[in-house]
Amino acid sequence: TETTTSTPRTTHVPFSFELYPPKTDAAVSALHTTIDHLAAAGPEFLSVTYGANGSSRSSSLEVLRYILEHTTVDPMAHLTCVGSSNVEASVLIREFLDAGVRSFLALRGDPPQGVAEGETFLGDLHSAAELVQLIHRVQAERVPYRETVIPGLPGARGVKTERDKVRIAVAGFPNGHPRSRATSQDIDTLLAKQAAGANLGITQLFFHADDYLTFIERARRAGVEFPILPGIMPVTSPGRLRRILELSGEELPSDLAIQLEVEPTPEGQREIGIAHATQLAQQVLDGGAPGLHLYAFNQHPTVLEVLHRCGALDTRKLHPASTRSASSYPAFSVAYPVR
Ligand code: FAD
Repeated sequence: TETTTSTPRTTHVPFSFELYPPKTDAAVSALHTTIDHLAAAGPEFLSVTYGANGSSRSSSLEVLRYILEHTTVDPMAHLTCVGSSNVEASVLIREFLDAGVRSFLALRGDPPQGVAEGETFLGDLHSAAELVQLIHRVQAERVPYRETVIPGLPGARGVKTERDKVRIAVAGFPNGHPRSRATSQDIDTLLAKQAAGANLGITQLFFHADDYLTFIERARRAGVEFPILPGIMPVTSPGRLRRILELSGEELPSDLAIQLEVEPTPEGQREIGIAHATQLAQQVLDGGAPGLHLYAFNQHPTVLEVLHRCGALDTRKLHPASTRSASSYPAFSVAYPVR
C-alpha cells in the first residue's frame, strides 16, 4: 500500500458528502453525530439518497430537515422519478421545496426488479432530464419571491425581489450506465440533462483516475459545460467492495480487490481503502477535477481522513461546536453554480 502524506493544497478544494437515510432508531442518532462532524468540515453540500420508488421519502426528508435546522450546510435531496406520474412527481418536489430544500440530484432511478425498461410501470417521466425540467417548473411556481428593501431608493425602485436559486445536479457515468449501449449515449444523456437545466454533475463511483478524466474530456468536447464532480468511495472491506459492485454494475478493480482479500485485519483493510481513495482523489484533482464528492456510508472518520491526506481539509474546522447553532458555522460558499 502506498503511503500518502498530507500537504495542504494551495487552492481551495470544494467537497461534498453523500449520506443515506438511517434504517433504525439507533442509526438516527449516530447519523446526527456524523452530520455534525461532516458539517464542521465545511462541505459545499450534504446529499441524501432516496430509496428506490420512494421507499425512503419521509426518512430522507427527516435527514434533510436535520441538516437544515442544525447546520448551515446546503442539503441536497436525491429524487427519482421512475414509476411516477407527473402529478405525483410534482407533489414530491413541492414537499421538498416547502421543507426548504433548494438543491436536488435529479435521477431517473431503476425500475423495480422484474420490470423491463420501456414497460408501462415506468410512468410519465422517462429520464432524469424530464425530472430536471419538472423541478424547474415546480420551483418557479412554488418558491416565493423575497423582498429586500434597498436603503435610499424610493418606492418600487427601493425594493428588490428575488427567488432562492435552485441547484439541480444529475448523475454521470464514466464507465457507462449498465444499460447504455454506447459511450456516446451516456454523453448524449448528459447533454439532454444540461439542455433541461441541470447545472452540476456527480459521477458514479469509479476506481481509476483515467476513467473520470477521459469521460470529462469527452463530455467537454461534446459541449457539456457544467462542473462534474468525481464520486469517490473509500472501499474498506472486501464485503463492501462486492456489495457496491453489485449495486453499481461497475467492473471489479482487480488490484484493489486482491489487496483487500489478502489483508487479514479490518484495520489493515481500512488503511488500504483510505490510501486507494486518497490516491484517486489526488490524481483527479491534479487532472483538473472541480472538487470531490465522497460517498460517506454514514460515517465521518474515513472520508475526513481521505480529505485530510489529500490536503483538502482545513483541520481547524474538524470538530463540531459543542453547542450547535447555525451561527457557529462559517457561512457556506457556493463554489458550484446555481440558477
Ligand atoms: P438517466 O441518466 O436518465 O439514464 C441512465 C442511462 O440510460 C443513460 O446514461 C443512458 O445511457 C440511458 N438513457 C437515458 N435516456 C435515454 C434515452 N432517451 N434513450 C436512450 N438511452 C437513454 N438511485 C436511487 O434509487 N436513489 C438514489 O438516491 C440514487 N443516487 C445516485 C447518485 C449518483 C451520484 C449516481 C451516479 C446514481 C444514483 N442512483 C440512485 C442510481 C440511478 O437511479 C440509476 O443510475 C438509474 O439506473 C438511472 O438513473 P439516471 O438518473 O442515471 O438516469
